[in-house]
Amino acid sequence: MLLNISNIQHFSTGDGEGIRTTVFFKGCNLRCPWCHNPENLSAAPSVMRYKAIDKTETLGKKVEIEDILPELLEDKDFFLQSGGGVTLSGGEVMLQADDVAVLVKKLNEYGISVLIDTAGCVPYKEFEKLNSLIQGYLFDFKTGNAQNYKEIGGDLETVMQNLTRLISDGANVQVRIPLIPDFNTDEGSILEICERLKAIGIGEVELLPFHRLGSAKYEALGLDYQYKNYELLSEDKLDEIIKQYSKYFKVIIER
Ligand code: SF4
Repeated sequence: MLLNISNIQHFSTGDGEGIRTTVFFKGCNLRCPWCHNPENLSAAPSVMRYKAIDKTETLGKKVEIEDILPELLEDKDFFLQSGGGVTLSGGEVMLQADDVAVLVKKLNEYGISVLIDTAGCVPYKEFEKLNSLIQGYLFDFKTGNAQNYKEIGGDLETVMQNLTRLISDGANVQVRIPLIPDFNTDEGSILEICERLKAIGIGEVELLPFHRLGSAKYEALGLDYQYKNYELLSEDKLDEIIKQYSKYFKVIIER
């Protein structure tokens, strides 16, 4: 059972409760131009050349579950004390659902709970392999507009069907919405998202403000970063966005 991963990050925050270790998976079926983990877009190893510090590294390798297990168990005591656990992120974790299920079962044997970060654009049968094993999903919802989903390689109908089924199957789903300038932060786009999510019974959303922290990685990969000149959302704009979402949902946001 091999997992295609790029990195394991200890003491990560912002991807679920408590102290967490995040495993980043290689390969994604979407192409969001604002993606802050561009090293995980391709399933193949990615060569990163940091010219300023004269450093080259290759990220991405296929690893046996048994080989990464000791590292994931290192922080077990912190997980138990803080209510944390392991988060699987990417890339798109659900593209490796069969092998991920084996990893999650192993972690569960040690009493470690697992969250999966997903964009949800995979057949529902992939979720069925994991629903009963994991603590929950951090489900990124990008837009309520079918054409805009298509432009980033996704499919709104698939995402909506998956979210609806996850909820009816009793999965713990935290919907997360990245706030992306010129994509989903105008009033009409927000309204579209709110109405679609409300219609399927979502009561709470987490808003993830746009940032450019992935900028250096695009340069190191020799990739064009379409968002490199975009400003961060102003405090006023964020207030306005939160106000609009709050009419529909309980809003969680870290600022
Ligand atoms: S779904 Fe996530 S990992 Fe994939 S391209 Fe979009 S932001 Fe990046």
